[in-house]
Amino acid sequence: MRPGDHSPGPRRSGGGTPTTTVPDGDEARIRPGSHVQERNVEGPGQAAAVQRRLDELLARKGEPVTVLPRSSPVPGSGARRRLSDQVRIPVYFHVLHNGSTGDISAALVRKQIAALNAAYGGRYGGADTGFSFELQSISRSDNASWYSNPEATERDFKPRLRHGGPGTLNLYSADLGDDLLGWSTFPWLYKGAPKMDGVVVHVGSMPGGTIDHFNRGFSAVHETGHWLGLFHPFEGGCTPPGDYVDDTPPERDATNGCPAFKDTCPAPGTDPIHNFMDYSWDICMNQFTHGQGVRAHQVFTAYRT
Ligand SMILES: [Zn+2]
Repeated sequence: MRPGDHSPGPRRSGGGTPTTTVPDGDEARIRPGSHVQERNVEGPGQAAAVQRRLDELLARKGEPVTVLPRSSPVPGSGARRRLSDQVRIPVYFHVLHNGSTGDISAALVRKQIAALNAAYGGRYGGADTGFSFELQSISRSDNASWYSNPEATERDFKPRLRHGGPGTLNLYSADLGDDLLGWSTFPWLYKGAPKMDGVVVHVGSMPGGTIDHFNRGFSAVHETGHWLGLFHPFEGGCTPPGDYVDDTPPERDATNGCPAFKDTCPAPGTDPIHNFMDYSWDICMNQFTHGQGVRAHQVFTAYRT
């Protein structure tokens, strides 16, 4: 057990139905069995508008638009094709804590960064997306209310703590209560709210943390996927274009646990339950696809360079 580890406490909403206050347009990872809706999942209309704008921006920059040839490698095929562009993302890690509670070690922060690098480098499986992450510094804020109610206080702590520009990842750890594992802002929100840009994760979701089934650091991997512009593979259900990535087979709904078999859409391919952008248990997740890497590079070019 690490110093600073703790069981997630009850949510601080005043009783009754739990609510989430993740701002509109942000993206959150919800724990199974929780009663909150992920109300900020982009609807098909929103996702289509995002894609139109992305294509416009890429066309303006002379970049190839939209997705991939159908012959792209499929998940599980062992494809480890390296994308030509390597992007190094500086990371500022902000530890929010309440005295010794949540005041995690620098070694744990480095483990989390290592999990990001392994996931995005294809070292658990799947594609090497060409993204890598370099820890710049760790800040520590001893603030009980930031630590135990980060959703309500992010407008306070993010502007004070954030470093860097659009291509800099600011990662915050805190106690997100019983429902949320993390949340992220999308890249297209940066321009309108640069200081709010970043990823917040539950401290118990970090490698070796206290949250059963979700303690390999993959909540940060998942949320960073949103930070890079990736949608869930269940975006839009079975209806194309889904997540705007061709090599993640569509799935009707989010995955719980790690089912032996799941195939919820008529389109070819079983559900991408091992994909970091699904909701499976951490032990079930091991891959991004080549197409997700391409999309993340496109979005990065449009919004984070
Ligand atoms: Zn998500």
